[in-house]
Amino acid sequence: MNLLTDSWIPIQQAGVQEKITLEQLLCGEKEGDLCLPRDDMEFACLQLLASLTQVLFIPTDKKDLIEKITKPLSHQQYAIGCENKLEWFDLDHPETPFMQFKGVSAKEVTNFVKLMAGLDDGTNKVFVNPFGVANSLCGGCAAIALFNTANNSPNLGGGFKAGIRGNVPITVMLKGSTLRETIWFNTLTEDSLDGFIFWHRETSSQTPNYVEKVASKEKININSVGLTRGLFWQGTHFELLKNNTVGVCSCCGFEGDLYCGFNKEKFDYTIEGLWPHPYSPRMFSVKKGEKKEYIPSFSKHQPAWTHLAKFIATDIGEKEGYEEVPVITQYKNYRFGVVTLAVGGYCNNKAMIEERRHEIYSLADGWESNQILINQLIQTALDYKDALYNSLNLFCHGYKNKKNPEKSVAGTGVDLVPKFIGLFYKNSEALVHAVLASIKFDNPQEDISEFLSSLRTLVVDLFNQATDPYQQEPKMLKALAVSRSKLINVHLKNLETLQGVERE
Ligand SMILES: [Zn+2]
Repeated sequence: MNLLTDSWIPIQQAGVQEKITLEQLLCGEKEGDLCLPRDDMEFACLQLLASLTQVLFIPTDKKDLIEKITKPLSHQQYAIGCENKLEWFDLDHPETPFMQFKGVSAKEVTNFVKLMAGLDDGTNKVFVNPFGVANSLCGGCAAIALFNTANNSPNLGGGFKAGIRGNVPITVMLKGSTLRETIWFNTLTEDSLDGFIFWHRETSSQTPNYVEKVASKEKININSVGLTRGLFWQGTHFELLKNNTVGVCSCCGFEGDLYCGFNKEKFDYTIEGLWPHPYSPRMFSVKKGEKKEYIPSFSKHQPAWTHLAKFIATDIGEKEGYEEVPVITQYKNYRFGVVTLAVGGYCNNKAMIEERRHEIYSLADGWESNQILINQLIQTALDYKDALYNSLNLFCHGYKNKKNPEKSVAGTGVDLVPKFIGLFYKNSEALVHAVLASIKFDNPQEDISEFLSSLRTLVVDLFNQATDPYQQEPKMLKALAVSRSKLINVHLKNLETLQGVERE
């Protein structure tokens, strides 16, 4: 199964599902939406498509990119792009199979359940997975699962390396009006790459690390990892095992050659520095004079919007800071206008995936020049969350005043905070989406006021919901009065005028 020549891309158009080739897609012969039973597999498929296109058909500059967006590639262009690279993307290559290593020694075969992130979590109730989805996979699904594990999943346990971006990185990609446009929006031009991977031109002849292998215990400087190596970095030694039968794939439902599992083996090496991946924001902090760079991950309950500022803007402070997602920087620089972002990732607990995330955001026209305001809106929503947090915390855990014990307040002793902060995130999500997608940046006052007042209503409602069951308890009246007063007269009052933005 070769990713450059075989039909492996599962699409759906007008209710009809089929598998198409990369050539049919990029040459404009077939079009449709990606169609797999899990959103993370679809997102990984998109990442794989964009990474392939990036490596094979890198546009030189803005003009070239626009031409490629507006006009499908010719078959000749496609053939030239694939020249000398076909072998890298063959899943069954006898020596250098796609993202695998031959002769991996393992005591036992690992089922695909392990490769398809999140399937084997006995405690996980968040996922809904079709029964038996990972029993045996066709070449396309096996390639997507392999790519997803290498790039997006937590490491497979002690001693196994995470991907080049670290454990469970957040991935942010742009969405176009068609699949082909989406792929090109996420492809950086040589000009843009000059600003991120400064060394991309002198490393352009590199092959992936499963072709030209790194030595055991090798120390690899990040500035030596070119575009191809970085996008297709395989940090673990995997080898897919073929069933030698043709059958129906338990993931996509299409018939094909089936793979039943894989062998895995630890491999030790060190990458020094953080590779500037095109689909992720980067953060850093300085502690005791040492700068630590990393790619943010999702943490429990926190929706993607809490990270939005890092996706679309750069803010370098002395002690900490963040750099925006390279494909977004390019989109901004090229003035492509209104933007829709697809954001995905996992929440993990060590090797276990606890939740998977996939969210779509639209930003209203003018977003490129209003990042300060966008950041203020996000920060404001977080400040409202803190208002709820602080007052509920007081209500639940009370307050001890050693000097004046009579001013102490006894709390409920029941921790209501996590539940209601979770509800705040859940219920504020639509508000944040709506204001970002529809705010009129040239005259934002009315939208801002409406946003602030909706957040206020939400916080008060949630506070009431949390405290209502205690209204009739005489012992709780003091805690209720004090925490309500703090909420209304201090926390929410402080938020009425915010960062120079006055509420009407
Ligand atoms: Zn399949």
